[in-house]
Amino acid sequence: METTARVVVIGGGVVGCSILYHLAKNGWNDVTLLERQELTSGSSWHAAGGLFTVVRPNSAAEMHRYTFQIYRELEESGQACGFHSTGGLNICRTQEEIDSNSMMQSACRRLGIEGHFISLEEAKQKAPVLDTDHMIGAFWEEEGGHVDPASATQAFAAAARQLGATIHRHTPVTATKQRADGTWDVVTEKGTIHAEYIVNAAGLWGREVGRLAGIELPLMPVEHHYLVTETIPLVENLGFELPQINDNETGCYARQEGMGMLLGAYEHTCTHWAKDGTPADFGHELLPDDLSCMEWNFERSVEIMPCLAEAGVKRVINGPMIFSPDLSPLIGPHPALRNYFCANGIMAGFNQGGGIGRVMAEWIIGGEPEIDIFNWDVARFGDFATQKYTEDMTRYFYENRSEKIFPYQSFPAARPQAKSPVHDKLAAQGAVFGTGFGSEHATWFAPEGVKAEDSLTYRQPNWWGPVAEEGKRLRSGVGLFEFSDMAKFEVSGPKAAEWLDHIMANRLPKPGRLCLSPMLSDSGRVIGDFTISNLGDRYLLVCTYAMQLAYLRHFRKYLPADGVELQNLSDDLAGLSIAGPNAKALISRLADHDMSTNGFPFLSAGEITLAGIQNVIALRVSYTGETGYELYLPRTDQPALFDALVAEGEQYDLSLCGLRSLMMLRLEKGFAAWGTELTSDYFAHECGMMHHVKLDKGDFVGRVAAQNYGAARERPITLTVDAGDDAIWGDEAIFLDGEPVGYVSSGGWGPVTEHHIALGYVPVNSYHEGGAYSVEILGRLCPAQLQPNPLFDPAGSRMRE
Ligand SMILES: Cc1cc2nc3c(=O)[nH]c(=O)nc-3n(C[C@H](O)[C@H](O)[C@H](O)COP(=O)(O)OP(=O)(O)OC[C@H]3O[C@@H](n4cnc5c(N)ncnc54)[C@H](O)[C@@H]3O)c2cc1C
Repeated sequence: METTARVVVIGGGVVGCSILYHLAKNGWNDVTLLERQELTSGSSWHAAGGLFTVVRPNSAAEMHRYTFQIYRELEESGQACGFHSTGGLNICRTQEEIDSNSMMQSACRRLGIEGHFISLEEAKQKAPVLDTDHMIGAFWEEEGGHVDPASATQAFAAAARQLGATIHRHTPVTATKQRADGTWDVVTEKGTIHAEYIVNAAGLWGREVGRLAGIELPLMPVEHHYLVTETIPLVENLGFELPQINDNETGCYARQEGMGMLLGAYEHTCTHWAKDGTPADFGHELLPDDLSCMEWNFERSVEIMPCLAEAGVKRVINGPMIFSPDLSPLIGPHPALRNYFCANGIMAGFNQGGGIGRVMAEWIIGGEPEIDIFNWDVARFGDFATQKYTEDMTRYFYENRSEKIFPYQSFPAARPQAKSPVHDKLAAQGAVFGTGFGSEHATWFAPEGVKAEDSLTYRQPNWWGPVAEEGKRLRSGVGLFEFSDMAKFEVSGPKAAEWLDHIMANRLPKPGRLCLSPMLSDSGRVIGDFTISNLGDRYLLVCTYAMQLAYLRHFRKYLPADGVELQNLSDDLAGLSIAGPNAKALISRLADHDMSTNGFPFLSAGEITLAGIQNVIALRVSYTGETGYELYLPRTDQPALFDALVAEGEQYDLSLCGLRSLMMLRLEKGFAAWGTELTSDYFAHECGMMHHVKLDKGDFVGRVAAQNYGAARERPITLTVDAGDDAIWGDEAIFLDGEPVGYVSSGGWGPVTEHHIALGYVPVNSYHEGGAYSVEILGRLCPAQLQPNPLFDPAGSRMRE
């Protein structure tokens, strides 16, 4: 066996083989895959192999789309994948399912993924096994079908070998040891390979392989059943192949298998398997099957496919698959380790494996993925994702597979998560809580008589009015937000300024000032969006809470051996924020400092004593577009400051606000948000960030790329939309002259401008003032007007007052 390799991929399931193939395809052929047993010896060999492409979010859809494309390419190059491109049919039993498919249809236009509603008659023609009586709609996916799991895996392996990659079967990895220079020794009974990078693609054994390197991955295996029927005469006599049939509302999927059918089910009750660890001797085996687990799903399936009731069952498969807490993959460099990549918890490896291979190869070879894939990034889970959390979350999402993902939906599983010190005070005022990165935050406050619980709909929910009211009250008085869920990093030491200047694109602020700064990758993508405050003896960086591990991972890449002290204070410092025309008067009453416009002007940063609490970090900035302050202080001090602000605020029309009103208020200002308008999909000149990129300040990460940006592909757009009683949430397609040209990145209702507002992107040559735009909302094209300026306070004077 070779003793060195640039990359060692651990695990020869569909995912590991695809990663190996994509590394070799991109020119890295000094790469080795080590497989414990035979290829496919985990979940891969017994998968149903079903394929679909119309999914949300868009990054996931792109992974599906690409995987579909790669099967075609492999087949065309002579590697048989057992690929059946039959198309797919989504069953709609309720209006909500129609709405969900409409949303997906609109979102997928951006990628050119074709899907549309068809009549029930047409559905029956495409799938004569259907009884459409229980259906109210049918959605057709052009790209749907299935592959043979073993063939597809072997096809990736064979194509990788042809490109020079090496595969060793029957070679379990028994240890992974990191050297001081960050490279790895990968130990097997046949010898040790010294590798620059490791990829953990060990599927069902992802946890065990992770533990070899000292990391605990939030993964939990579950049992999953499908059955294959004997020949069904109706199917045998069709003369064509049935499409893939997805019945989301019952958690069922079906397709033709031979002359019979395959029916799979996300069972009503989730059964976890091997909770503490996957047995080392498990391999090409199945779990004892129990068809009664599928009974509920089966009965629902018979309603729409009556021929199943008569069919004999030829084979029942109960196989384990392994999930992350939100059932999405965990991919990318592990934030705690150097040169260690994860490709774990992949629920739909045959739909996503090709895409994951592509993205992983981009990440390993190029240092970053070429699309924003944070939804799947292993860094989206921190220490909060314990075994219990993972168990609770996987159970919830497995058992509620049928649940649509509604706008702003927060889920009841694994609650409550970490609470802010004033959580109970907020709850007493009617707060409805959402979660992010393992923490609870107030989303809105239910007024008297309104149930403190979100209604779930794609249309206007119960919180629509109350959130708008919160926004209105803030713009006329002062709003108080609990604001702890921000990531906060403290940077100090003799080389702090030099280092920050190198990783941030803006010029650093002077003492007592703050600035907004994008962080660019080497290739010039926007990978972060920060406020940087110069507190005299140190800097404070504030950014999106959920990004903290992803940012730490990036920071460490550039951190010098000494001279910079970096501390993650995200959970040590609590936050409160006030904003509105009365905010300055309120803070002035409580501060020991001159908080007037001259004494503490817009973009000031400093430590003040507030309500007798010393060293409160005050930043004069607000995402609402009003005069506002972000206030950070030790957690133990937060309740006292909260009480003081509430008590003193009474005379200034203070009201409590949740984070949803913040998101609506910033729409009126056209302020971009991280994760929607600002993502690593864009370069700085495409997302309106170029004025924060100081090309003349000297060298910094991404500068060379930014100097050489080509023409922008897309540009931001703000639209007001005649949506009437509907709502815009994001992902809807933007049409110009009746043709889809762009998409909505986020949308909502402007509290005081009283417009439906959509922020989004269109190709540069589709941006026309006065153009005939429309936004597709639940299948309806709603006229929209381009707004070249912010709708509220376009001059930005209120926030500077
Ligand atoms: C019943 C069932 C039906 C499914 N249906 C579908 C479907 O219709 N469509 C779809 O897209 N997906 C489906 N899936 C999911 C799909 O099977 C998985 O997403 C996919 O197989 C995951 O592949 P993987 O490569 O990540 O992991 P695995 O297939 O588990 O492969 C991991 C490999 O790593 C090896 N390994 C582990 N430890 C070591 C070690 N220490 N050293 C060396 N090698 C090691 C294992 O032997 C194994 O071969 C289904 C799954 C099940 C159980």
